[in-house]
Amino acid sequence: MEIQVGQFFDSFKDFKDLINQRESEINEKLVIGKSSHSVQQANSRLKGKFRYKDDLVYTNVTFRCVHEGNFISSGNAKQSTSLRNGCPVLVKLRADKVVNKLQVASVNLQHNHAMPDKKDGVYVSDRKLNTAEENDVTRLIDLGAPVRKIQAHISSSYALAACIPEYDLRQVT
Ligand SMILES: [Zn+2]
Repeated sequence: MEIQVGQFFDSFKDFKDLINQRESEINEKLVIGKSSHSVQQANSRLKGKFRYKDDLVYTNVTFRCVHEGNFISSGNAKQSTSLRNGCPVLVKLRADKVVNKLQVASVNLQHNHAMPDKKDGVYVSDRKLNTAEENDVTRLIDLGAPVRKIQAHISSSYALAACIPEYDLRQVT
């Protein structure tokens, strides 16, 4: 359960398993930040013999709490449904070339809020979209918004987050 600076992981999956374990035990929800870089990208630029292991998936990856960041209203997004409250929690991992493993570069697991109880259904994986959200998504579908945009909207407005990357729009249509 503990995550410490300097800790090594043989694969991204090993780290994700730990995150998933924390999620199921304390209902902590960490999502991958936008500034992450993939092994694929990095390897395509490498000229020598060295290649990062595919299992590392990322050469740089940041996990943040879904409650991170100040919510910036974008058009019709409903502020009231946002979960963002500036939580400082983050875990940064970097691929180490010497051992070809992921290493924890920085970590802060002090949330500035209590973890919601699963039964409260704050997170979408714990619940279905509520009626207002369903209407909102249906409206976007009716407007012909690209699926990618709708997913981004769901993710930023309702914190459905990157942990459900393949959010299935058929659920709401
Ligand atoms: Zn948090």
